[in-house]
Amino acid sequence: MRPPSCTLVAMDCLFCKIAAGTIPSKAVHSDEHSYAFADINPQAPVHFLVVPREHIPSIAHASSEHADVLGHLLLKAAEIARTQGLENGYRLVVNSGRDAGQTVDHLHVHVLGGRHLSWPPG
Ligand code: AMP
Ligand code: ZN
Repeated sequence: MRPPSCTLVAMDCLFCKIAAGTIPSKAVHSDEHSYAFADINPQAPVHFLVVPREHIPSIAHASSEHADVLGHLLLKAAEIARTQGLENGYRLVVNSGRDAGQTVDHLHVHVLGGRHLSWPPG
C-alpha cells in the first residue's frame, strides 16, 4: 500500500505547485510523470531539478511501488543533461532528510554541471 505521506499532490508543497504551474518556474522538461526546471539558486552553470508529479516527500519515503517513476526520473535527468551541453559530465544529487540538507520535502533530483565538481561533497 502507498505510504500515507505519498499522495498524488500535496496542496501545501512548493514543488507540487511548481509542477502544476501555479508557481512559476523555468521549465526544461515536462511530461506526464515528471517536471524539470531551473534551480532558483544555481550551484553550477547548469543546475536543474527533476521532480515526480506525484508527491513523494523524499527517497526515504519511496517504496517498490515507485520503482517505475524513480527510474523515469533518472532516465529523464540523463536525457535532459544531453540537451543542456553536459557532455563532459554532470552530477546527480538526491538529498534526503535534515543531515543531507533537504529543504523541500518533495523528492527531487539535482542535476549539476558545466564546471568541475569536487569530491567528496561537503
Ligand atoms: P534540497 O536542499 O536538496 O531540498 O534542494 C532544494 C532546492 O530547491 C534548492 O537547490 C533550492 O535552490 C531550490 N528551490 C527552492 N525554491 C525554488 C523555486 N521556487 N524554484 C526553483 N528552485 C527552487
Ligand atoms: Zn509535493
